[in-house]
Amino acid sequence: MNVLVINSGSSSFKYQLIDMNTEASLCSGLVERIGETQGKLTHKVMPGTAEEKKFTVEQPFPDHVAGMKTVVDILTDPERGVIKDKSEIHAIGHRVVQGGETFSKSVVVDSVVRAAIHDNIPLAPLHNPANLSGIEVAQELFPGVPSVAVFDTEFHQTMPAKAYLYPLPTSLYKELKIRRYGFHGTSHRFVTKQAAKFLGKKADEVNLVTCHLGNGCSMAAVKNGQCIDTSMGMTPLAGLMMGTRCGDIDPAILPFLAENKGLTIKEIDAILNKESGLKGVCGMNDMRDIHTARLEKGDDKAQLAFEMFCYRIKQYIGAYIATVGPIDAVVFTAGVGENDEYMRAEVCKDMEHLGIEIDLEENNTRRGVARSISKGGKVQVLIIPTNEELEIAQATVDVLKG
Ligand code: ADP
Repeated sequence: MNVLVINSGSSSFKYQLIDMNTEASLCSGLVERIGETQGKLTHKVMPGTAEEKKFTVEQPFPDHVAGMKTVVDILTDPERGVIKDKSEIHAIGHRVVQGGETFSKSVVVDSVVRAAIHDNIPLAPLHNPANLSGIEVAQELFPGVPSVAVFDTEFHQTMPAKAYLYPLPTSLYKELKIRRYGFHGTSHRFVTKQAAKFLGKKADEVNLVTCHLGNGCSMAAVKNGQCIDTSMGMTPLAGLMMGTRCGDIDPAILPFLAENKGLTIKEIDAILNKESGLKGVCGMNDMRDIHTARLEKGDDKAQLAFEMFCYRIKQYIGAYIATVGPIDAVVFTAGVGENDEYMRAEVCKDMEHLGIEIDLEENNTRRGVARSISKGGKVQVLIIPTNEELEIAQATVDVLKG
């Protein structure tokens, strides 16, 4: 069974075709600058393997339908295509950012589901409309092929009220659905299942703290395979310090900024989302640049940004161990989590009293596969490469099999 995974943004979309018999990715790609005078399509055949072949197409894509039509042409091209006919696409899995309280599981998309995704637009005004347009394009170009919506928020829907409610007037929750939803759920769920496999436990028996650290960063407290708390909130701005996002700050800073700098809500929002985090502290948001600056150029701001980033992860590990009870493992995943040995060493430093101790030599080697870097402590420290597309494809298959 071949599943086409689509992650649709407002002016771009990513896609990946996965053969679910082998779980191999047949091809993946990105269509960007949709609606601009010149668009770009980057396509990879057998991505991530020794046989990977990459090519690009530059042409205007007036809308998502035009972009997807070109993708279908490439997928079925007699020379470089990976399927003969689009009938070899058996199902489509869509990433949808915000499922609100409506969706605690992935679902087959029908008109009722589309309407419910639409109803959740106020909670994700940038993402849900773009995700919906991906669904509409797929339904237009692949009539009769089932589409499944997989929500970033669904893994976190098992949180108890004491974790997801904010201490605000209850009327705000009732009227506007203001609460913690959490994001990156597809990744947290994927690494939870992989960690259980790695530890030889059933998925519903594993207790973890999972750390998804990329440009956006979030952590989850996982008890018996279920999320009981997560660091992102009603929006992906909350929790950890991120590339350009501030994470948790004193909320009174917002009115203070408005009053003392005369900033509008929009301007403040832009500062918190785009000018803060690592970038706000040291001017750089790529952790590789930060390491070069602090280690090779003695840049104090880069050093401070790195320490602040790690400090908050450490604090959340402590908080989540207190929340979950004894854990089996701390899991690091995503761009920074999988690749940054400096960050892992700093976060896990002086944590022996919590059963966390890493082998620095193991920590410094790259393998690209799930592995433990523990040095015998009670808690395993795992690096697990995330694969959100495969998780979406698996969820799609599971939903269709009922
Ligand atoms: P996104 O949230 O955009 O999906 P990724 O999970 O791909 O992000 O992570 C991207 C980030 O990973 C980059 O901003 C970079 O800081 C970080 N990264 C990638 N490789 C390394 C590395 N070798 N060391 C430290 N950080 C890295």
